[in-house]
Amino acid sequence: MKLAHTPITQHQFNDIAFFLKRDDQLHSHFSGNKARKFMALLELETTNIDTLICYGSAQANSLYSLAALATIKGWQLEFYVDRIPSWLIDKPIGNYRGALELGAKVIPVANSQLHPADYIEQVRQPDQRCLVIPEGGRTTLSKQGINQLASEILSWSRFEPSHQFVVALPAGTGTTALYLHKYLKPHGIEVLTCPCVGGKEYLIEQFKELGESDFPTILELETKHHFGKLYQQDYQVWQQLLEQTDVEFDLLYDPMMWQCLQSWYKQHSDKTIIYVHQGGILGNESMLPRYERKYGVI
Ligand SMILES: *Cc1c(COP(=O)(O)O)cnc(C)c1O
Repeated sequence: MKLAHTPITQHQFNDIAFFLKRDDQLHSHFSGNKARKFMALLELETTNIDTLICYGSAQANSLYSLAALATIKGWQLEFYVDRIPSWLIDKPIGNYRGALELGAKVIPVANSQLHPADYIEQVRQPDQRCLVIPEGGRTTLSKQGINQLASEILSWSRFEPSHQFVVALPAGTGTTALYLHKYLKPHGIEVLTCPCVGGKEYLIEQFKELGESDFPTILELETKHHFGKLYQQDYQVWQQLLEQTDVEFDLLYDPMMWQCLQSWYKQHSDKTIIYVHQGGILGNESMLPRYERKYGVI
């Protein structure tokens, strides 16, 4: 199975005309940057593996993507979390709901007093039939699928020689931005990102842990921004994007990147942005009601 070659569409957001790499359209269940990052696993030809093991938040985009991957491959997904909030158990929603529907086992380990990563190692003790993935797919294994994404962007850009392109995308672990940068820099394409989890220093640490020493350009907001918290500004930007582009963006990462880009563009209006839509739309199923409760339905 090969998933690739998503379309690139053209849009306008306020004064910014930009192109959008539609990785949200990669596959109905297995899409966005998690699909790119886990593509090497999809293409893996193994006969002895029957269980995929990972950990993270019960609402993570990676939970749903790994559940989809496991379904396609005929594997069982075991996803270890610290705890599952009781309201989520009562009324499964978003990535958690999607993953359960795909047969994933989501296993809370808070009672053991162990971090999920330690629980996997010390209690679960995976054998050769198991494949263990670090949280968020922060692994060098992700490079293969991200290189494919980069090569699609590069070959498309060659048909548009009048533009000076930059590629923009928000960072969690930064794995996607880092490997895009590594591939595209020698071709003269700058990659812009922003740290959605932790600050700039934390993001640089994550880059270094992947063994790299040359990094994409990091943009930041003037005010501090905490991952998963609700900000009225984020909600407004998300809504404006939806209105002006007819594309639903992710509520967790994309609004911050677009705020950074709006400031950046004031000094760089000679450049043309190719924004990478990294999927994550199912996560909006739980984020949007939280925003609507707090700030009302716009
Ligand atoms: C996971 C995710 C990110 C962050 O990707 P990293 O490679 O960890 O930086 C950004 N946007 C969406 C929608 C995601 O699901």
